Amino acid sequence: MTWTNRRYSVLMTTALAGVLLGLAGYVIHGTLHTTRATDQQSDALVVDMLFTEARIAVAMQEVNLRHYQVEPSVAVKQRFEQVAADTGRVLAEVAGKGDPGARADAERLLAAQGRYRELAERLIAMVADSDPAHVQLDRLEVTPAFYSLQNDVDEVSRAYHEYAQDQVSALRRTQVRLLIGTSVGFTAGLILLAMIMKMMVGYQRRLVDQADESRHRSLHDPLTGLPNRDYFHQETGRAPAGTPVAMIVVDLDGFKAVNDTLGHQAGDLLLIEAGRRLHAGTGDRGVVARLGGDEFAVLLPRPGALPEIVALAEHLVAELRRDFVLAGRPAAISGSLGIAVGAPGDELFRHADAAMYRAKGSGGGVAVYEPGDDTGEPDRMALFADLRALLDAGDPADQLRLHYQPQVRLSDGAVVAAEALVRWQHPGRGLQMPMSFLPMAERGGLEIPLTHHLIGVAVRQAARWRADGRVCRVSVNVSPGALSDDAFAGRVLAALGAAGLPAELLRLELTETSIMRDPDRAVRALREVGAHGVSVSVDDFGTGFSSLAQLRHVPADELKIDRTFVRDLRDGTPDAVMVRSSIDLGHNLGLEVVAEGVEDVETLTRLRAMSCDYAQGYVLSRPVPAEDLPEACERAREVAQAALAAGAPYQRQP
Ligand code: C2E
Ligand code: CA
Ligand code: CA
Repeated sequence: MTWTNRRYSVLMTTALAGVLLGLAGYVIHGTLHTTRATDQQSDALVVDMLFTEARIAVAMQEVNLRHYQVEPSVAVKQRFEQVAADTGRVLAEVAGKGDPGARADAERLLAAQGRYRELAERLIAMVADSDPAHVQLDRLEVTPAFYSLQNDVDEVSRAYHEYAQDQVSALRRTQVRLLIGTSVGFTAGLILLAMIMKMMVGYQRRLVDQADESRHRSLHDPLTGLPNRDYFHQETGRAPAGTPVAMIVVDLDGFKAVNDTLGHQAGDLLLIEAGRRLHAGTGDRGVVARLGGDEFAVLLPRPGALPEIVALAEHLVAELRRDFVLAGRPAAISGSLGIAVGAPGDELFRHADAAMYRAKGSGGGVAVYEPGDDTGEPDRMALFADLRALLDAGDPADQLRLHYQPQVRLSDGAVVAAEALVRWQHPGRGLQMPMSFLPMAERGGLEIPLTHHLIGVAVRQAARWRADGRVCRVSVNVSPGALSDDAFAGRVLAALGAAGLPAELLRLELTETSIMRDPDRAVRALREVGAHGVSVSVDDFGTGFSSLAQLRHVPADELKIDRTFVRDLRDGTPDAVMVRSSIDLGHNLGLEVVAEGVEDVETLTRLRAMSCDYAQGYVLSRPVPAEDLPEACERAREVAQAALAAGAPYQRQP
């Protein structure tokens, strides 16, 4: 959840809580209010009713009094008295329960009623006595008292009736308001709740999506979109134990050539298309995964009979052999496929891998695992895992070692430098030469840590020699992929700093093709180290495909002629032509020129005659461990100086 989302949801929840609280308060307040209003209203209605009763009672008194004047019977008199008593009782009731205003009105009316009743009773007594003065009393006192009382009670009653009506409509209004307020609050609460729910659901869905996506990402190869090695292992593990499955390991043949000549992007396109063809060719019979580099695998959970599996594998090879068109340029590759059938697991995988190697050894195509395939075939997976663990741990036991091969200056035979060449002293497998683990390390993404590890070892060794008084520049081979790391230059300079070695005593050997993979980046990195004094050698010169025009832009100091051209330098041979022109080219570009793979003295003298600057090769010294280098340098110098002395005899060394 992003920050704004989080703030939004906090806001919404707070708003909902506010609305709910407000609603509750409003309802409580409203209820209290209506309760009070209802009480008031019912009081008002009671008072209204009593006053109405009083008004009627007052009128009834007068009616009975008049009746008595016409018919002065005991019954009529009693009725008058009854009604008069009722009037008093009703007014007294109001005086006892009404609000202060009503009480005052009732008390006033009560007093007037008392007066009227007294006069009326006097009148009754005079009528009973047939006293003719009763007419006088009636006209002057009783009738005015009655009218005054009646007017007053009428007015009061009307006023209270209106008041009661007002109370009724006020209560109705309050109730309507309360209803509206509650509905509005309730609706607002519902809307907020819905919004929060929606947000929660969205959030949850996003979480699930993210989890799905990262699961997908962790189990798929980003380039081809195919399942990756991890997924494949899971999938293999899911196959029910006991039922045999088939595993086909696919390794592309010729991929590296495409990658080196057409470039990285073309290589990527090739992998994508190869993955697509394998996937399409397998259909729903199995799962295709990219294991890394140019290696794929196909798992068939219900493989059927062996001939069917072989037929499928051959179909896949045919698919891979169809021409590829990469960014408009045709490219051809093939594949080596190894098949193994058996219980799912690591062993099956190793078997398929071993079979694939046999296929590769016999020029590609399909091979089915046979016992014996994996004996003698190095178990690359395990070796790779060992190397990765070794580099992760920083090689505590120094299993990765450098041997050093001296380079002599052909003008005077002095040893000026040594090339560092890696060896792996494997605890279980003995000494491993670079070709038995380097390609695998480079394909498996270990080239960066490996290169820097070895640069570290080499510069520390050179610093030790320097401390012992032997100044010797060291040339270190840089794996192609190491240059594609932006931190490359910084790490090289840091290694020099940590070892305390002057940058001039380090030379980096890079092949043309590794520079041309991403020339801009490589040139940038090499310029940066160059600015600090580190020099650069273009290794294996003559084997790459780069144009001379491109080479002009590479900040190199040395050109190293590949050993394959140095074998036969007798006049007129193609190698001699190639070497001579390479030396000229190097000099024209202002570079020093080194010939490697010099195996005999004759070649050494010919190289000098061609004005090659330096030489390196078995005739001078094989690569040796660091502690043997001083002695090896001594011998190399002797050989070189003897050879360079005029008329050196032809001498072939083993
Ligand atoms: P390279 O850079 O061309 O190294 C020269 C190879 O030629 C070395 O093989 C060396 O032992 C061999 N050599 C030296 N003199 C002669 C000779 O007179 N005749 C013949 N036939 N060979 C000679 P090595 O040590 O087996 O290395 C093979 C390749 O492995 C190297 O070729 C280089 O590409 C790579 N490599 C070696 N060490 C390292 C390293 O530390 N890092 C990297 N990235 N690559 C390395
Ligand atoms: Ca080299
Ligand atoms: Ca070389």
